[in-house]
Amino acid sequence: MNMTTATHEDIYRALAAVNDPELGGNIVELGMVSAVDINAQGVASIGIALTVAECPMRNQIEGDTVRKVRALNGVTDVVVETTAMTKAQRASLMGRARLRAREQAQPTQVAPTTRVLAVASGKGGVGKSTVSVNLALSLAQRGHRVGLLDGDIWGFSIPRMMGIEGPLTADDENRLIQPGMAHGVSVVSTGLIIESEETALMWRGLMLSKALEQFLSQVEWGDLDYLVIDLPPGTGDIQMALARLLPQAEMLVVTTPQVAAQKVAVRVADMARRSYMPIIGVVENMSDFVCEHGARYELFGSGGGEALAGQIDVPLLGRIPLDPAVVEGGDFGRPVVGSDSGPAAHAFAELTAAVVAALPPIADETCTGRIAKLVAQLDEDLAAAP
Ligand code: ADP
Repeated sequence: MNMTTATHEDIYRALAAVNDPELGGNIVELGMVSAVDINAQGVASIGIALTVAECPMRNQIEGDTVRKVRALNGVTDVVVETTAMTKAQRASLMGRARLRAREQAQPTQVAPTTRVLAVASGKGGVGKSTVSVNLALSLAQRGHRVGLLDGDIWGFSIPRMMGIEGPLTADDENRLIQPGMAHGVSVVSTGLIIESEETALMWRGLMLSKALEQFLSQVEWGDLDYLVIDLPPGTGDIQMALARLLPQAEMLVVTTPQVAAQKVAVRVADMARRSYMPIIGVVENMSDFVCEHGARYELFGSGGGEALAGQIDVPLLGRIPLDPAVVEGGDFGRPVVGSDSGPAAHAFAELTAAVVAALPPIADETCTGRIAKLVAQLDEDLAAAP
């Protein structure tokens, strides 16, 4: 276990990744963080001043705060104390929020209310893309608005797995790339953009992180509940870029039961921590194989997922068995969750339920109501001022 303690600065950096989705800014820049402390036992205490005491976003802001700060090395527990702002604090907050909205054009096309799930693995071939595709489709089946971004710029396999072909087109007016649609999921991949050798060369010249930036800033993603990003295997600058561009991103680590795979996956988790990206959990893929006679074979060993989850101190959110239907579904553009009722399809649906429980969609129905109330309150405050 790592005994270094997180500094106040680390905690502020983690808090800067907690957004108030209604006000469109992070809680640090909006001035909502009223206190930060950490004791010798690693218990962090965070004070958050909410705009109104009965803020409908309270649970979400509290939950996000706990997850982001808990992800820091040396933090053993997080205690959040919320208070309501005074009228003067509220007026100054609204001022900042308005200024920010005016000055800061959205740097990416991904809405602050979109949950971003980055699917990562230590090495290739563990089924990271398979998990991304089935998770995205399963989220869509549950009624969520879902996007799937193939962040594996050169090793793309999403188009084949989703059964979709390019090229994608751009909107004439705003010149933004329109995602493709497959199985109810909005899909973008380099494989859907490259038409000729020429465009291929242009993309090849870009750094991976630049390519990712383009996908986030030049695609009209729209109002999504979830954006699933299939990251390239290993650690690299793409993770750093993601943490910088989408501070709301959280990571899901895919591994196999093999101990060797678990070791490289730990490195990915370390990198995520260093980029202040919380890890929501581990998925063990290719867990075991149950033959038609009911006998269970652990072809790739056992326990790797559990060991990894324990080592990086996050939950094991799912175990996906080896299932020939997965290979077939991937080869023919029909992900198993949408076309099969076998063991893998079942396990993917369970994994999705666990992901949604850990990271529920951000409810946005109350936004307009709360903003209207805040503005009314602000106007009242201004009228009352001498
Ligand atoms: P990665 O993205 O990690 O490189 P892929 O998702 O492309 O890995 O999967 C590698 C291969 O393993 C693919 O052919 C895929 O169909 C197969 N595969 C992945 N998960 C399973 C599974 N649970 N059962 C059977 N085959 C699987």
